[in-house]
Amino acid sequence: MRKLIAVASLALAACATAPDPIAPKVKITPLGSHDGEFCPFDRALVFEDPDGTRILYDAGRTVRGPNDPRLGRIDAVLVSHVHGDHLGDIIQPSANAGTCPKGDFSVNVTPNSNSVNIVLGKQAPLIVGGEMHSFFQAKVRSLGGDPSRLVRLVRFGAQTTVGKVIVASVPAVHSNGLPPAFLPPEQAKMFEGGLTAYVGPPGGFVLRFSNGLTAYLSGDTGITAEQDLVVRGHYKANLVVMNIGGFPFTTGPAEAAYVVNDLVRPASVIASHANEPATVGGTLTPTSRTAAFRQAAKMPVHVPLSGKTMEFDGSGRCTAGC
Ligand SMILES: [Zn+2]
Repeated sequence: MRKLIAVASLALAACATAPDPIAPKVKITPLGSHDGEFCPFDRALVFEDPDGTRILYDAGRTVRGPNDPRLGRIDAVLVSHVHGDHLGDIIQPSANAGTCPKGDFSVNVTPNSNSVNIVLGKQAPLIVGGEMHSFFQAKVRSLGGDPSRLVRLVRFGAQTTVGKVIVASVPAVHSNGLPPAFLPPEQAKMFEGGLTAYVGPPGGFVLRFSNGLTAYLSGDTGITAEQDLVVRGHYKANLVVMNIGGFPFTTGPAEAAYVVNDLVRPASVIASHANEPATVGGTLTPTSRTAAFRQAAKMPVHVPLSGKTMEFDGSGRCTAGC
């Protein structure tokens, strides 16, 4: 009898920790430059709430414009900052153009930008912080869109909702000069000699989904005190999408590992912005930066393979596709 009780309580304990197959999940799909790989310029992710709301984060260079068939319906477009690899200055002419180490990004989409083209094509609002909204409102207006509907300002401390998803703005410490290529030619002329236009600070985001999943999207940043005090302390993020690119731009594997291990402490992490061809045939290269980060992090680190959908439960655990 005692043995039976022990078996029963073991089974109960197993139930308590096993993923619940019918609990609602958030689907996260990386839209990178090459199917099934994690390549140097991959930043874009599509988040799908259990209520069907779909949010695109940092389209960058790897989403092939508003007609990229991988996008589907899009309800909001997030841009962390205006550098070309995030806002999108150039894109691929076709799926998988070039190689993973050296993608073919021969289609120039300035001065509009890839993100604004997607906002107009999908009629989905752009969500930005800093001083970026006034620049984007003028751009959307100049391209025939409705700026009051298609550009939403959310500065640090504030939040907005898209469907059932709460989108909050959090700081990133980086830079955010607008490359002159995104300006009309007559304005671009004023920024010769390496100057960029001021559009306020860069940012990151916290997304709280209807199943409880709370994802911190770092944007481009170094280590910041807010990752501890705000992202963990207030928002209690249980999933982190972390920039691991390193020298000379942002946190590298060691700094990013400190952020997730000691500051945010989520249940799991998706590596981002590796600035390297991290995989070959979908397998992580052992000498890659991404592998070093995965080694240094204390929680599971998932590699965003382009086109491969991952599913997360409300506690930040990957339950499928990882
Ligand atoms: Zn970047």
